[in-house]
Amino acid sequence: MTKSAQSILVTGGAGFIGSHLVDRLLKEGNRVTVMDNFNGFYAPETKRENVSAHLNNPAYSLMEGDLRNVDDVRKIFSLGPYDVVVHLAAMAGVLPSLQNPSLYMDVNVVGTQRLLDEINKQPKVPYLVFCSSSSVYGERSTEKFSETDQTDRPLSPYAASKIAAEVACFAAYRTTGLQVVCIRPFTVFGPRQRPDLAIHKFCHLIENGDPIELYGDGTSKRDYTFVGDIVAGIVSAVNLRLQGFEVINLGRSNPVTLLEMIHSIEKALGKSAQITKRPMQIGDVPYTYADIDKARRLLGYEPMTSFDEGIAEFVKWFRYKLTLSAK
Ligand code: NAD
Repeated sequence: MTKSAQSILVTGGAGFIGSHLVDRLLKEGNRVTVMDNFNGFYAPETKRENVSAHLNNPAYSLMEGDLRNVDDVRKIFSLGPYDVVVHLAAMAGVLPSLQNPSLYMDVNVVGTQRLLDEINKQPKVPYLVFCSSSSVYGERSTEKFSETDQTDRPLSPYAASKIAAEVACFAAYRTTGLQVVCIRPFTVFGPRQRPDLAIHKFCHLIENGDPIELYGDGTSKRDYTFVGDIVAGIVSAVNLRLQGFEVINLGRSNPVTLLEMIHSIEKALGKSAQITKRPMQIGDVPYTYADIDKARRLLGYEPMTSFDEGIAEFVKWFRYKLTLSAK
């Protein structure tokens, strides 16, 4: 899907998914501006490493700023104009959101609204790709999750903030005609994955011979999706400029149980896990399964990376980081 070079603002472009997206957008010859506040949700140094390869590219600009700050948001638009805004900046994570719900609402809902306000003030209004989440689907135990399913019964403040931000995007579309695609990624994994996420945490513990905590009986299922596939879906959304307002799942559509996930990590590391069983945690959903027919139809999306291939890629990166930190 080639397109002439565009000027693209990526919020949260120093994070896990954002830095992979920036890799790809720069490779395709676009001009990319990133806004990120390098917050301490996990080590800011990790985010600095994520952007280090971008800094020497003349087509790349980085502004450290906070979405909650009106002046920062204004300033980032003064560095435009932008053809497209990809809004990934957020407080991510289901379980941490239980500790500080208001922070999640401030960043993910009010922050998104600030961005919408500023987008709509631009003389040439850019097109918006907003990153929502599969967590908006709440608790389900069967069937694929489809974009038309009910989404007003979230299980966590994080999920509530994501569906609220989607609704804010819809209101902007209806009142100002802003063109918006809301993508709903399903548990994303791969190199640079956030350290708070299960695959990364488990890898660390199994590598060190420490016990891992298994919540529930190990049969909970997640539709883990490789970051390269998610990025391909976002890039299609950027390039295709869908008209109106659309919500699109991006998943692998092939859920994996928690026990299968652990076995795949064991195989890739060549080590066995010591398992401590714990009850299911509040806020965590037991099952996710993406219906990706709409993504196939509208974006030409097709997940290419199997779970085991993705885990092998993650472990390769994980071990490489270990050798660097040992030096
Ligand atoms: P991440 O934490 O690595 O990236 C988010 C980035 O946003 C970080 O670099 C952070 O510093 C920045 N940020 C946070 N608050 C900010 C603020 N107030 N102002 C400016 N920048 C701010 O997380 P990620 O896993 O890369 O997630 C990216 C997006 O994808 C998020 O919107 C997240 O909700 C969504 N998402 C992630 C997953 C997943 O499995 N990783 C699944 C579904 C949706």
